[in-house]
Amino acid sequence: MRTAICPGSFDPVTLGHLNIITRAAQIFDRVVVCVAANANKPTPMFTVEEKIDMLRTVVAPYPNVSVEVNTGLLAEFARRYEGAVLVKGMRAASDFDYEFQMDLINKRINPALETMFLTADQRYTFLSSSIVREMAHYGAELSGLVPEEIIAFIEAKAKSGRG
Ligand code: ADP
Repeated sequence: MRTAICPGSFDPVTLGHLNIITRAAQIFDRVVVCVAANANKPTPMFTVEEKIDMLRTVVAPYPNVSVEVNTGLLAEFARRYEGAVLVKGMRAASDFDYEFQMDLINKRINPALETMFLTADQRYTFLSSSIVREMAHYGAELSGLVPEEIIAFIEAKAKSGRG
């Protein structure tokens, strides 16, 4: 069984992430979406539990996709799934340097671990979780940026953050 691991912070999951996840689900037998719990990012908008709830909601229609949380190194997490491959989205040249560096670091820890890149869908090349957070903060329209099923939750969270 070939497993793809789609890692990220998912703060929150966007249509860009979901596009990569569902394309990976067509290529691989199984996709494990791996939510980084210790992401080296300042003050996430959503708790890990909220990120997982949103992801589980939006991947529910895909029987071969599951959502896991990872508190350690991704290259160690990947050892749980024999022959697993990391699958990531590549939006622009600006993603390349970081991803190249991450792959080399991961291989130092787990030399068998390969990373494959799917080019971002042209509808979503501009899209990131930080753009969604910004839009939500200012009460802008989120339709077309994140899956419809989680828009109300994101709006409510943003509203409570504005106080
Ligand atoms: P990280 O904080 O680790 O970058 P993200 O949650 O921002 O995690 O992104 C996780 C993965 O999803 C990354 O590989 C990133 O390239 C990919 N990704 C993010 N946004 C998009 C998008 N709009 N289209 C395609 N891939 C994307």
